[in-house]
Amino acid sequence: MREARSPNGSQIESSSLTREIISYDPVTGEELGRAPASSAAEVERAVDRARAAQPDWAARSFAERGRALLRAREIVLERLDEIASLIARESGKPLAEAIAMEIVPTLDLLHYFAHHAQKLLRDERIAIGHYALLGRSSRIIYRPLGTIGIISPWNFPWAIPLGQTAMALIAGNAVVLKPSELAPLTALKIGEVFAQAGLPENVLQIVTGDGAAGAALASSKIDKVIFTGSAATGRRVAAAAAQNLVPVVLELGGKDPLLVLDDADLDKAAAAAVWGAFANAGQACASVERCYVHERIAQDFLRRVVAETSRLRIGEDVGAMASERQIRTVEEHVRDALRRGARLLIGGERIGRGAGLFYAPTILTGVDHSMRIMREETFGPVLPVMTFRDEGEAIRLANDCAYGLTASIWTRDLRRGRRLAEQVIAGTVMVNEVLYTHAIAQAPWGGVRQSGWGRTHGRLGLLEFVAPLHVHTNRAIWWRDPWWFRYTPQAQRLFRTLARRFTDGSRWSLMRAVPDLVRRLREANRSSD
Ligand code: NDP
Repeated sequence: MREARSPNGSQIESSSLTREIISYDPVTGEELGRAPASSAAEVERAVDRARAAQPDWAARSFAERGRALLRAREIVLERLDEIASLIARESGKPLAEAIAMEIVPTLDLLHYFAHHAQKLLRDERIAIGHYALLGRSSRIIYRPLGTIGIISPWNFPWAIPLGQTAMALIAGNAVVLKPSELAPLTALKIGEVFAQAGLPENVLQIVTGDGAAGAALASSKIDKVIFTGSAATGRRVAAAAAQNLVPVVLELGGKDPLLVLDDADLDKAAAAAVWGAFANAGQACASVERCYVHERIAQDFLRRVVAETSRLRIGEDVGAMASERQIRTVEEHVRDALRRGARLLIGGERIGRGAGLFYAPTILTGVDHSMRIMREETFGPVLPVMTFRDEGEAIRLANDCAYGLTASIWTRDLRRGRRLAEQVIAGTVMVNEVLYTHAIAQAPWGGVRQSGWGRTHGRLGLLEFVAPLHVHTNRAIWWRDPWWFRYTPQAQRLFRTLARRFTDGSRWSLMRAVPDLVRRLREANRSSD
């Protein structure tokens, strides 16, 4: 369990009857509300309820399921201010970020999948080569997996669980959602919106609680876990799910690099670095956590970055940190860097604002890869900047990392940008863009290395919520297959011929196998008489 953000105590309160999570506003320390701290038995019951409700939901058409998503979208629009204010208060982010980074992308996602999921998941006929000449055909049908467990973090408490829930639902699944203990009220609001939109009872279950509730969900007999959070917890979730051989999507952390090449538009690159590093107070998995700039333009770039940063207003532009633990990690990383010779250009300290947990946007130079600030996820408003001499060194530095979520390259030469993009080890590489592609519902989201497995968003993400069923049909039912029993000398002769004539993709070559094939078919079908 995390440290309390309230001035007076723990996040979970137990009475003789119930256990509750208390949700606090990280800016004021004020209690916002309470939610049940679900026990393992309650999580199990929620999974059972969702499982029972799923077949009826799956039996409905895409159009019907899509209508529920579109109604939810209308409700979010009608209640936009109320929802944005709850997100902002529970997570400590500015209201502008709650609208721009959480609500707008999900409105687009709801619209997109409501209208396009059917097409994205339509049956596919697949080419099966020479087998088709033998009267066979194959189709893939995408069927819902069943009940999906979603475990989500606190940093985007609306956009992440709502997007994943909507995609699971449109594909015909039921969902059990376990939000972070730091943002239970936002998740309950998601449940309220879907209930108001007419989602059938029990298809969406929200189990609020702490890590233990997440652990119970990961070990339950659900059909898939979609986990978003730290690599450390991701490992535990994967291990727990493996006990039941439950598949897992892992959306984990990042240490994302931003590369500024010598021909970049420095104004844009500097503004992008500042937004990419400090939006959401640096608490985004795709935040810019490492900046590499060509040595020739480094001074100009740094001057611009510091000027941009000095104009940011704490509270209005840069929100609060989510927890005391989070702010301490940032302090430790900055302290370690300074001890090892880094230079502080701006920031580098907490900012007191009543009970608020703010950390000043910070820029460091003179950093290197021996420092924690360049190796571990900091998850706070810190931009460490290093120089490089040439493209080769830039790519080497970018790839010298345990993570691989996103990367950003700044150059006026788009061809050069795309060429370098292909050399970066990551799930997404942006040329002249930064941070925001999680908002693109149509594009895949996910990473490589310690940033996780699998994808959310886009068609690749939607495919994570379905089981492909391969239906194979043989129209030529008047003969026995030549490879069935018995393995006579004639059969063996055919198999030798097929090894050469069936497997090279050439129809001409296959024609030369026909005499052996016909002889074997005659033999096989005679022996059945
Ligand atoms: P955590 O890993 O601490 O928690 C994530 C979720 O897992 C929370 O709901 C948490 O519950 C729950 N949990 C905790 N322990 C367990 C357990 N043993 N079994 C199952 N679930 C458990 O991450 P944070 O919430 O701190 O989020 C920050 C991290 O998430 C960062 O590393 C960030 O990079 C990553 N992230 C990745 C994204 C991506 O798309 N790749 C997007 C956003 C964030 P509780 O909070 O109640 O303890």
